[in-house]
Amino acid sequence: MQSTQIDLAAVLRTSFRGEIVLPGDEDYDEARRIWNGTIDRRPALVARCADEDDVRAAVRLAREHGLVVAVRGGGHSMAGHSTCDGGIVIDLSAMSAVRVSKARQRARVQGGALLGAFDTATQAHMLATPAGVVSHTGLGGLVLGGGFGWLSRKYGLSIDNLVSARLVTAAGEVITASETEHPELFWGLRGGGGNFGVVTEFEFRLHRVGPVRFASVYHTLDEAPRVLRAWRDHMATAPDELTWVHYLRLAPPLPELPAELRGKPVLCSMVCWIGDPHEGDRRIEEALSHGKRYGMTKATLPYRAVQAYCFPGGVVPDRIYTKSGYLAELPDEAIDVALAHAERIESYMTQLELLYLGGAVARVPDEATAFHNRRSPFVVNLAASWMDPTEDDRHVRWAREGHAALAPHLTAGAYVNFTNPGEAARTVEIYGGDKYARLQELKGRYDPNNLFRLNQNVAPPGR
Ligand code: FAD
Repeated sequence: MQSTQIDLAAVLRTSFRGEIVLPGDEDYDEARRIWNGTIDRRPALVARCADEDDVRAAVRLAREHGLVVAVRGGGHSMAGHSTCDGGIVIDLSAMSAVRVSKARQRARVQGGALLGAFDTATQAHMLATPAGVVSHTGLGGLVLGGGFGWLSRKYGLSIDNLVSARLVTAAGEVITASETEHPELFWGLRGGGGNFGVVTEFEFRLHRVGPVRFASVYHTLDEAPRVLRAWRDHMATAPDELTWVHYLRLAPPLPELPAELRGKPVLCSMVCWIGDPHEGDRRIEEALSHGKRYGMTKATLPYRAVQAYCFPGGVVPDRIYTKSGYLAELPDEAIDVALAHAERIESYMTQLELLYLGGAVARVPDEATAFHNRRSPFVVNLAASWMDPTEDDRHVRWAREGHAALAPHLTAGAYVNFTNPGEAARTVEIYGGDKYARLQELKGRYDPNNLFRLNQNVAPPGR
């Protein structure tokens, strides 16, 4: 252990209730690890904060000692923003409490909570609000980037349901941002990533969400053009209750799939109806009436069970590289490009995801939040995932080449939460030029020295 590390830990310990993990400690490797195994960094200190005062102490230590700061919510940043080399990780994983007011249909959630904890606490009262679709993802990073999932067409992005956020600023102050307090900051927090401080508590509006109707089905690639064209046309007028998404992937070794399909590129359709399950069954059958169906499963499930659906075959990848974009329209040529690229998928964990937002997401005025691209309903995400570090190059190449091939059809920008470690040069495009300028103003006001720079970083003016 180096003396500088001992000194930093000693300084922090004078006012810290949580746990401090240092290089050489037994759990250091676990504490520094994030979800994307391609990111292998060695912070000088991991500060597992117990409460907001701990966050303030860690921020103060970083500021006074000029340390690089990484803020870790659920650690699922695919770009690796929640860890660092040589600096301090402000780890919020112990700050994961969720308090629900059934009467007010509100939830207060600490900044390090995972989606699973949030869904479990809210669904105990048959309530929910939009978030992502994988329960071990962190709410903190997801919400600050926008946040979408099965409920979004009906109830908007996660940020559209955010009432307030309490945060520790770079100066160590604790402030609350909402429509009435620091409203400009509230605008920037909703889509501007983790640029403005450490959010210790989010407050959300909740909605009544009972059991949902859910279906998943596979199609061969021969049938896929027909299915995807039908999907594109159907979604243009589909009710908000219907979410229908596609994953181009290798058919997993599931007993319900014919042996000859396994390991071949296929189109997996998933449909979820947020509303009356009987009506949902009819709507799902209508949607999935195109093309021959394999391995169809249908069920009425509690919403939180759909949220835990997770990965096909239960295999969680170690390494991931993602390239994403939006499409305002989905011409036949773009479908053909995506399908040709799916032929080159080499890993069971890789997916070319085709999502459709629209609905309540598109009805929020674009200028209302810092989230970019509400008017482009199609989201494409080339998520290359694999296990073996010696295969990094070819999987990264697959995602990049697919993105390049689709580029003529993409609108400018990308979802801030679906970026990879090399996208700093795309920052202005990702936020959009006008929004970036507004975010820069905010950055100058709340973090002029760019203490919080491990994110899709908005540079303070003049830097
Ligand atoms: P972290 O890695 O902890 O943090 C990500 C960024 O947010 C960092 O810059 C960090 O500093 C900052 N941050 C995190 N918490 C705070 C906080 N409390 N205060 C200030 N800054 C903070 N996105 C969707 O919208 N919908 C999905 O369905 C979806 N599914 C996903 C599934 C998987 C398996 C994965 C890996 C990602 C998925 N995503 C999805 C993307 C997800 O939104 C991002 O990975 C997001 O960054 C995860 O948040 P986190 O807290 O786990 O990340």
